[in-house]
Amino acid sequence: MNEYEFTCSECGQQIEINGPMREATLTHGCPVCGATVSPDNFAPC
Ligand SMILES: [Zn+2]
Repeated sequence: MNEYEFTCSECGQQIEINGPMREATLTHGCPVCGATVSPDNFAPC
């Protein structure tokens, strides 16, 4: 069940993710390019 849409401000990748994946992405960065991610990069689906 995906709850958020992540949009990377660096590479433009859009990915639908769930809550735990949101936390992991905030910690580790964009899964595609590794850019630093802020809460602003997530929108509720
Ligand atoms: Zn990226």
